Amino acid sequence: DEPFFRGCTDTNLYLQDPDYAKMNASFVMLTRNEELGDVLKTMRSIEGHFNQWFGYPYVFLNDRPFTDHFKGQIQAATNATVEFGTINETAWEFPAEVRDSLLFKTALEDQNDRGIMYGNMESYHKMCRFYSGLFYKHPLVSKYEWYWRIEPDVDFFCDISYDPFLEMAKNNKKYGFTVLITELYWTVPNLFRTTKSFIRKTAGLKENLGTLWKLFTFNYNILNTEDEEISRWVNYPSDAKPKLTEKLMVDFLLENRGQLDNEEDLEGIQYLVERARSKMPLMEDSIEGEDYNLCHFWSNFEIARVDLFDSEVYNAYFKYLEKSNGFWTERWGDAPIHSIGLGMILDLEDVHYFRDIGYRHSSLEHCPKNAIQGESSSGEFDDGFDFGCGCRCVCPKNEEDIEDNSTPCMDIFFE
Ligand code: GDP
Ligand code: MN
Repeated sequence: DEPFFRGCTDTNLYLQDPDYAKMNASFVMLTRNEELGDVLKTMRSIEGHFNQWFGYPYVFLNDRPFTDHFKGQIQAATNATVEFGTINETAWEFPAEVRDSLLFKTALEDQNDRGIMYGNMESYHKMCRFYSGLFYKHPLVSKYEWYWRIEPDVDFFCDISYDPFLEMAKNNKKYGFTVLITELYWTVPNLFRTTKSFIRKTAGLKENLGTLWKLFTFNYNILNTEDEEISRWVNYPSDAKPKLTEKLMVDFLLENRGQLDNEEDLEGIQYLVERARSKMPLMEDSIEGEDYNLCHFWSNFEIARVDLFDSEVYNAYFKYLEKSNGFWTERWGDAPIHSIGLGMILDLEDVHYFRDIGYRHSSLEHCPKNAIQGESSSGEFDDGFDFGCGCRCVCPKNEEDIEDNSTPCMDIFFE
């Protein structure tokens, strides 16, 4: 999965190419009237770095009507078409039986007590639920084939000199991201259990899980010991893939190496293995050695096909999650839900890492290096760290390289 372009392409020539076709696509932003200033900041950034040349329309959604002032300011910030939509009550609010239940109020308070970020903000729960399973049903969104999600207070650091929608279509990509991070465990303690329950109850699904699933599951069977010496200790054929329990033991052995008089001392090793075993948690709930590694595509940036979500499996998944009440008994984010849900239906090749799109939201950012002139003919992307792939990137902190290696999830992705 290489960047579509390394460095800048000549946007005028790109647009004049007879093969260029503007896509059926739109920016989508859920926001509030009060966020106008930050919304304009985001628009200035995306217009300046991309949309002044490509003119893709915007869709703004809100649970309340946008004010005339908001609409006027937004329209003045772009030459592109802008549409404003309100979300009807049934899509935004929790179902009436939930709202009326005694548990509802205490559930949010309880999350607050436990220090869960946004735990007692009902609006935040509603936002996560909306982005998890409902945004793609909104008529202003569903009429498009592709969407690019944006948020207030976002910076783009590089020029995007080509059309990402078109390039994704050409390259058979369905979902694109810039940042891949781990979720806060206590916001989703039961999400994966519920997901596995969904899989178990959905006949045939298990066999058909996309390979992307592997990215989000801590699959005990794919762990491997790289240290040949250790493999020898525990008697693995060199190409065998030890299970997690065994990996834990090996780690334990390594830590306790000093206790062994002689590394060949099998009795000593067996003794330590027994001790390791007695320390290990029982994983009764894990099916086939799977657990959630908490990795997820950070969903405030997404470029994707709308029909990924409005699909049989994903819709059924959302329905199942909704019934389990996790959108309010816990504070499930739309990001892990998108990632796990899509993990069930996509293969890795369907996903595109927009390594070349410099991006910041809140305190997280992804900053590509600019492509080095003269290297672009090499066609070598496997070591993108060295040659860079960005186009006129200006990153504020001027950090050396915060690309690709900023989170453990990225390592798993590359692996
Ligand atoms: P964070 O990025 O996870 O901290 O979440 P945000 O507070 O930025 O919310 C995510 C997106 O949903 C942003 O685009 C917000 O403007 C929007 N949003 C969050 N809560 C509400 C809400 O109650 N009403 C509306 N209309 N938009 C919301
Ligand atoms: Mn945000």
